[in-house]
Amino acid sequence: MTRPLALFDLDNTLIDRLAAFELWAAEFAAERGLGEGAAAWLVEADADGSRPMDAFFGLVRDRFGLAEPAGELWAAYRARLPHLVHCPGEVLDGLDRLRAAGWAVGIATNGMADNQTGKIERTGLATRVDGWAISGAEGVRKPDVRLFEIAARRCGASLGPGGWVIGDDPEKDIAGGRRAGLRTIWIDRGVTGGVAADHTVTDVLSAIELLIQLN
Ligand SMILES: [Mg+2]
Repeated sequence: MTRPLALFDLDNTLIDRLAAFELWAAEFAAERGLGEGAAAWLVEADADGSRPMDAFFGLVRDRFGLAEPAGELWAAYRARLPHLVHCPGEVLDGLDRLRAAGWAVGIATNGMADNQTGKIERTGLATRVDGWAISGAEGVRKPDVRLFEIAARRCGASLGPGGWVIGDDPEKDIAGGRRAGLRTIWIDRGVTGGVAADHTVTDVLSAIELLIQLN
């Protein structure tokens, strides 16, 4: 019998991407002596990760008159960010419990391959899941169903009834997950409302508990 599938989003679902970004912004502003208010400006300009990073680093370069090309700033950011993210121990334990309860557990994430792989490895998530798919490595982004398909395959599972997507993005995770034939749990971070998910919770640990009770 095939195992039921749980596909998790990475940023602001399994890990607190905003907290890591704020650490990076403070560090970047201090190292370069960008002055008071620079870190807050960086966080604002990032718009919770909704602005494409090449565009973001173009803005940063112009705003602070930096010499490096935007692509270089972006590459340095991707090398640094995996060192600033963290996955709480109770979430890692929760994933272990989910797998012990018979679930296939995976990650489907949009982002660059180096940054996302670095985050998955450094947080300890790599050994707690059956597989993952990163848009930058696969050439296809959520909400495209194909990224969910790849992630499912890496977990030795397939899309369809009995499978779930857990994520914070209404379109990429929830609408995309539904189109992939999966049920959905929305992580409500309080930034948007009115999402048509099967369940809504406020953190990923609650989502894991819910799945364990379901099976
Ligand atoms: Mg997310």
